[in-house]
Amino acid sequence: MTRPRPTPKALLALAGLFAALSACDSAAEDHWASTCGFTSYAQPVVELPNSHQAVPVDVTSVRGGIRFDVHAKTATADIEMRFQVGDDGGWPVFDLRQSVDHLELDGVAVDASKVLRRVDFAEAQDTGGVLVLTTTLKPCSIHTLRFRYTLTTPSSIDGTAEHIASLHAPLSFRKGEVRWFFPTSDLSPGRYAEMWLPTVPWSDGYDVALDLLITNSDAAHRLVSNGDVTTLANNHWLLRLDSTHMPTAPMIEIIGESRYYTHIDDSASPTIEVVSDYITNLDRLEDFAADVRASINKTIDRFGPYPQGDRFTAVLTNTRRGAMEYAGGATFDSPDADTAEHEVMHSWFGRGVTPAQPRDAWWDEAWVAYSDAFDRKDFGDDRPLFDRDPWIRQTWPEAYSYGATFFTKLAGQLGEAKLNTLMSSFAQSYMHRPASTADLERHLYCETGAPVVLSLFNEAVWGLGAERTVPACDARPSISTTSPTVVASQAQ
Ligand SMILES: [Zn+2]
Repeated sequence: MTRPRPTPKALLALAGLFAALSACDSAAEDHWASTCGFTSYAQPVVELPNSHQAVPVDVTSVRGGIRFDVHAKTATADIEMRFQVGDDGGWPVFDLRQSVDHLELDGVAVDASKVLRRVDFAEAQDTGGVLVLTTTLKPCSIHTLRFRYTLTTPSSIDGTAEHIASLHAPLSFRKGEVRWFFPTSDLSPGRYAEMWLPTVPWSDGYDVALDLLITNSDAAHRLVSNGDVTTLANNHWLLRLDSTHMPTAPMIEIIGESRYYTHIDDSASPTIEVVSDYITNLDRLEDFAADVRASINKTIDRFGPYPQGDRFTAVLTNTRRGAMEYAGGATFDSPDADTAEHEVMHSWFGRGVTPAQPRDAWWDEAWVAYSDAFDRKDFGDDRPLFDRDPWIRQTWPEAYSYGATFFTKLAGQLGEAKLNTLMSSFAQSYMHRPASTADLERHLYCETGAPVVLSLFNEAVWGLGAERTVPACDARPSISTTSPTVVASQAQ
């Protein structure tokens, strides 16, 4: 984001299309330091008092359909999440901020009210928790969970009363049209894909395929997304996001025809599309596209090729969400050039290289804020930038101010140009992968051998006076694309 703000249902008739979605390719992901499932960057296993353990899983695909009935003013979802358990068997951890009406595990109906438990493992913060499936699954086993639910305001939109009151409803039906969006935020817990779709609370790349259908509406609608959209019919789309998209990244907006205005600049690559649900002056949209183009060109000069394909989508919206970054896109509440520069840079840092966990999400805001000349604050006696609690679910707002100071001090020691080169090579090394705070420290230290990197991390990131071992520069994870070993495919 740009900166902290104070602030019995019908089942889907989409079975045919749902079944038509091809089986997932379980070997599609890279595997670092794990023998099955890509869970190296996930939160740790949690030992539970009842001798069970909650374990991370590797999601490999999320597929299904959502049907919007404009006359009935309802939206219903039928979504299948395919996943693999990691090296540790147990009760799988994931998240979905919707109330599940019907649940199937590996094709067998189970009672969602009994087997799904919401638990908050964070110690010092109310995060809204995660979902734990209270069924023991074997290590490395592969499963599907099928969820049916009626979409309601996600339970994650639980910030300050002023913030809630200021937000437009992320799902609304008005004048024969539907408006639906992801009010994504890194400053409130549970505000990524889990708002509307099952996912995991850490950076995990997986394929998404959604059949989105609007019924009982005479109005045409537009699906705006950073994924690949195939129009199947009027008000009917297939949306795909490949496994470079993390749970933080999907930008999905449905806008009725009476409320969208658009400008496309395809004079160069990437194509820039500006869509607005409130700015009717197309010249303003064209001017803003020029601002976005200038920001992209500037960022390419600093950090290398545009990493998000051939398109950047900017949504100018009056839904009062503030500015928010996505992979190859961003939302804005006003056409501001400085804000464009901030959000565009996140397509390299934040949604290109993605913070591994929410507690790592200080570094992308800190680096972008440093580049913005965001107001600095000295570290003082406040907490360090990295939170030791792996279960926190939001970026600390002071990541911008203290974080900009951190990078300013680093630039003072290494030189601005050298730091820029280091961050550019960091982006190229980890592009479309998660990167933890330790990965960033290792990169900066091992590329320079400068002890000041370690002392600044100790002071500002890990905590004053923290004892840290020197990163092992020859121990960088190697990438393997070995297929995971399937031990069992049934719950036990
Ligand atoms: Zn930001």
